[in-house]
Amino acid sequence: MTELTFHGAARNVTGSSHLLRVNGSTILIDCGLFQGRRAESFEKNRSFPFDPAAIDAMVLSHAHIDHSGKIPMLYRHGFRGPIICTAATRDLANIMLLDSAFLQQKDAEFVNKLHEKKGLPPVEPIYGMDDVVDALGSFQTVGYHRKTAVTPDVDVTFHDAGHILGSAVCLFEIRDEDRTLQLCYTGDLGRPDRPILRDPEHVGDVDYLISESTYGGRVHLQSEAILDRLEDTIKRTVSRSGKIIVPAFSVGRTQELVYHLHELREADRMPDIPVFVDSPLSVNATQIFRIHPECMDSEARQAILTHQNPFSFERLRYIMHVNESKELNGRTDPMIIISSSGMCEGGRILHHLKNNIEDERNTILITGYNAEHTLGRRIVERNPVVRIFGEEYELNAEVVVLNSLSAHADRNELLRYHGRFDRERLAGSFLVHGDYDQAQKLRHGMEEELGLRDIMIPSPGDSVTL
Ligand SMILES: [Zn+2]
Repeated sequence: MTELTFHGAARNVTGSSHLLRVNGSTILIDCGLFQGRRAESFEKNRSFPFDPAAIDAMVLSHAHIDHSGKIPMLYRHGFRGPIICTAATRDLANIMLLDSAFLQQKDAEFVNKLHEKKGLPPVEPIYGMDDVVDALGSFQTVGYHRKTAVTPDVDVTFHDAGHILGSAVCLFEIRDEDRTLQLCYTGDLGRPDRPILRDPEHVGDVDYLISESTYGGRVHLQSEAILDRLEDTIKRTVSRSGKIIVPAFSVGRTQELVYHLHELREADRMPDIPVFVDSPLSVNATQIFRIHPECMDSEARQAILTHQNPFSFERLRYIMHVNESKELNGRTDPMIIISSSGMCEGGRILHHLKNNIEDERNTILITGYNAEHTLGRRIVERNPVVRIFGEEYELNAEVVVLNSLSAHADRNELLRYHGRFDRERLAGSFLVHGDYDQAQKLRHGMEEELGLRDIMIPSPGDSVTL
């Protein structure tokens, strides 16, 4: 018997985690942290809706924390199977999970301050550095297009998802009694014609599809328009002597942004102002990008092989140390500061926002998806007052939203990807990793434009038998 249960990223975009049960074996597909309202995500992240010790193996689509962030906790709670992913995903997960352990510690300290005031007992971080290091020993890496056994009845083959370095669309081959099923899990699907990464790959025809739906109802700008909007935003802000503050994921978005700024600089389309990438994780991630040319498109690969560095240019500085980060607060000259986290839920970006959000000369440039109830979403929605570190701040800075920089396929790109599957063979599709309205819009498009049927938008905990 083959059964799928959707435990996370069901009708929302975070906490990806799906269970695949085949003939008594259990495979966990992704194991991500929930992000959103602090109290709610803190609760959701403290436990599992299944027994980690009963899982035989895990498959990881890519290193983003909303897909990998609970892996150390999985290990802590008794999981001892292999974690199968690409080599670049393992290397990125290494630094990202260590960074996450640090943030878990900070989160627990924050909650404990509140608990102390209320007379409640203290809480422990959900995992520590030791758990990360233990879990890292369980990773088993495999290249793209190399079929590998996950359990006796299930094989997986990774195809490039074009989303972040090492990201994979996972093709499962399931032997269930006298039939063989193909199940495609898109993980997070990237966009065609993006810098650095290759285009998402088609995996061939399948019987079942689990697809992300982050932008199931939206269409992104084309990349030429991205450069124009970046140029306009920078010039407009510099003309009023402001700073441009960019919350960005350290892995993927930051490198892509730097790549675009490099392009603007080369074309003499950018004022001569300093650019700071203020995140130790970004510095480490950029180094990992440079050792994985096998995951890159031909231009980026060529640049790396000829010892050019597409992630650096004059006036760009990577900041490791917190003192250097603090020095930026005292400066009043126009500059660009790129810092994490992308959804403004932690990290040094909070200090830069606190110091710059009330000055109307400044711009906050939003470059990615912001989940509901995050500070990033409140900024996108231009709430007049926002809370940072428990204090209220007026949002006077200009807010520019550049969703087109997204690492996620838009509605048309998702439909083009799905349209390549043989619709006679596709017996069912499951839309995950999207707010409900986006998933509904994608389902509508799949039904009307592609003639697909049996498309389900599962709720957390829903199970289906394949
Ligand atoms: Zn992702």
